[in-house]
Parts: sequence; C-alpha cells; structure tokens
Amino acid sequence: MNIWPLTAEPAVSVGGVSLTEIAGRFGTPAYVVDEEHVRVRCREYAKAMAPHEVAYAAKAFWCRAMARWIAEEGLSLDVCSEGELAVARAGGFPADRILLHGIGKTPNELSAALGYGVGRIVVDSSGEVRQLAARSVAAPTGGRQKVLVRVTPGVDAHVHRAVTTGTEDQQFGLSIASGAAADVAHRILRQPSLELAGVHCHIGSQITSLDGFEAAARRLVAFMAGLGGLPELNLGGGHAVPYRPGEDGLDITAFAERVTSAVEQECAAHDIPVPRLTIEPGRAIIGAAGVTLYRVLAVKHGARTFVVVDGGMSDNPRPALYGSRYHIERAGARTTAGTEPVTVVGRHCEAGDVLVPDARLPADLRPGDLLTVPCTGAYHHAMASNYNHLTRPPVIAVHQGRAWPLIRRETAADMLHRDVG
Ligand SMILES: *Cc1c(COP(=O)(O)O)cnc(C)c1O
Repeated sequence: MNIWPLTAEPAVSVGGVSLTEIAGRFGTPAYVVDEEHVRVRCREYAKAMAPHEVAYAAKAFWCRAMARWIAEEGLSLDVCSEGELAVARAGGFPADRILLHGIGKTPNELSAALGYGVGRIVVDSSGEVRQLAARSVAAPTGGRQKVLVRVTPGVDAHVHRAVTTGTEDQQFGLSIASGAAADVAHRILRQPSLELAGVHCHIGSQITSLDGFEAAARRLVAFMAGLGGLPELNLGGGHAVPYRPGEDGLDITAFAERVTSAVEQECAAHDIPVPRLTIEPGRAIIGAAGVTLYRVLAVKHGARTFVVVDGGMSDNPRPALYGSRYHIERAGARTTAGTEPVTVVGRHCEAGDVLVPDARLPADLRPGDLLTVPCTGAYHHAMASNYNHLTRPPVIAVHQGRAWPLIRRETAADMLHRDVG
C-alpha cells in the first residue's frame, strides 16, 4: 500500500502542484490535502461495502470542504461534538446521514443534534436514555429519535493502549458481559420517543488484522439476537493505513468479504434477519491524502545529528502520544548526495518533541531546505495545539494543478482575540 497521496509524485508534487511552490505560496509548516485521494478512497469504501453504509469519522480531519466532499461521495458522517456538528451544518451535510457519538454528551450537544435532526444518536451510558427521551419529545420533528447502543464486545484489537476501545477495561460503551448493554437496550425499548435501531462498537484504531472485527461482529450479532434482532449493526472504524514504506494497511475488500459473511453466518445460526452494516473509517479515508511540509531551521551535529524543523508536537502530537513512526524526505528535486542517519525534532521546549527519531536525510541538508512527511491527513490538524503559542498551520487543498487554502494559518492576533482578561 502506498504512503503518499494517489496523485503524488513522492516528495515532489501532489495534485499536480509542486511542494516547493505550495511552501513558497502558503509558508511552512503547512498541511497539504489531496482532494482526489479523499474522493477515490470514499468511492473504494462505498463500493466494497455496498449495499451497506460507510460513515466518515469527522474527528480524523474536519472542515466545511471535507463535509461537501463526503456528502457528494454519498457517505454518511460520524460526529462526536457540538463543534463537529456545527461544521457539518455549515457545510450543508444532510442531517439524516449524521450519527452523533460521545462517551459524555453535553446537554447543549444533545439539543443541537436533535434540533438539526441527526439520523441516529449512539447511546454510551444509561443516564443518556432518560435525557434523550425527555428531549426527543420536544424535538421539532416530533417523531421517534433513532438510537444505537454502543456496546463493549470484549475484543482486544492489539493496538496502542490509548486507542484500544473494545476491551472491558476501558471507558467506552456498555458491557455485553456484565449485562449493562442489555439493560440499556431495554430502557430504550420502553421509551415511546426513542427507536432502538441497532448496536454499535468501535474496537480501536490503526488495526491491520481482520480477526478482531470478525470476533466483534459475531458477538454483536449474538447480542442482537437476544433482543430479537435489530435493523442496524455498526462496527465502527479503526482501519489501518501504512505510515512508512513496507507497512500494511487494512484491505477494505477483504474486510467487507470476511465481515459480511461472518454476520450472515451468525444471523442464520441465531435465526434473525441480516442487519444493515455501517462502518466508520476516519484515518483510512483521509490519512494518506495528506502530507506536511516543514522548513529546516537548524542542523546540529554532535553525538547525534539533530535536524530542527519549524513545527513539531503542536502540529503532530502522535509521536509523543503513541510513539508513532513516520517517514520523512527532503522535498523537491532528488539529490545525488548520500544520506545520513538523523533525528528530526520540532522546535518546542521539550526533549520529547521528536518527530522522527530514525530518519535518513541527505548529508548536504541545510537550514532553509524543505522537508515533507507523508500520511499526515488524519489526526494531525485535528489534534494540533498552540503549545508554546505556535500558530496552527494552514490546510491547503490541491486538485488538478490548483492549490487553495481550506483552513488559513492561525495568527498571533487569533490567539490574542481569545485572551480577553
Ligand atoms: C475514532 C472513531 C472512529 C474512526 O477511527 P479511525 O481509526 O480513524 O478509523 C470511528 N468511530 C468511532 C466511534 C470512533 O471513536
């Protein structure tokens, strides 16, 4: 699987626009997003899963343009906050194709979701049932709000602990094993303003193996059978993409075959109708669509060679959070210079601000050179911070030889705007 955007000439151009030109026009650091890549991934997912449903998980990367692209490609949408919902609305995303998630939903969030008329709300705790029931009566639609129950299938996806969300010992979902999930399902069934449409699980992120998905699907079908069968089975997201050359991603065609046949078998065994499946990829749609551009600020020779770039953990916290590993290259024309092992670090005031501990970069690398990191479309801009009062980078879209900003660079004035004391 490729780590670069579909339209890229690796480390040279994306979407027919040279990386050097983008850096010159928009400055660095900058995130670049390939519209074509996003659309092609949406189509691959929709085709592999048809006639089932694919919902893009907004949290991976979200803005109004993305809302339009996802809507145009016919996908549904996952949001998990009032902010994500506000962007969906601003981008004109159809309400009936939206699912609202959240381990703890605020009263404002629930009101906003019901006010917009989101298609489904995924219940994650028992107290939510009463809150939702009370509010649904007052909803403008007046109709029954469709809900799913998020369950904990007791499946370990064997990924980083911070993104393991299918086991018993973590905070998401309601346990099938303890009976909490069935209890909440029955509470929902007793509420005249709510309609129990199905069950949901999300077992983790950056998962390469199909085993966990199959196991979860089977357990969820068995759980649904205990309720006499339900129309929808949502298996969440978590599909892996490769970050470095030679790594594997999750193959969506193999996933679709394996999971749909497991669900059909299990439904037949329990004698219940086959539900409509939903999956919720975030990273798999947007991850490889993005690259980040940095300028080298300094090269420090010593016990090791450190290459200091003009960004760091504020635009990519993933190495510090999860020990994530990345590929990095000098952007622009290839050189004949040999490479040397270097440690690429950010410019934050922390020794932990290491972007790539084991990079190989040209031996003639010098300040001012442009570097590019592939596979930074997911959970990069979305997780960016203002640490050290650095301003968040812009997101630049590229398509068929054109480059334009989706999100502009943050400025010191933006930060001062909030500083009202
Ligand atoms: C994070 C999340 C996703 C998307 O995860 P990816 O690993 O980006 O595919 C989907 N569904 C839920 C409920 C999530 O929390």
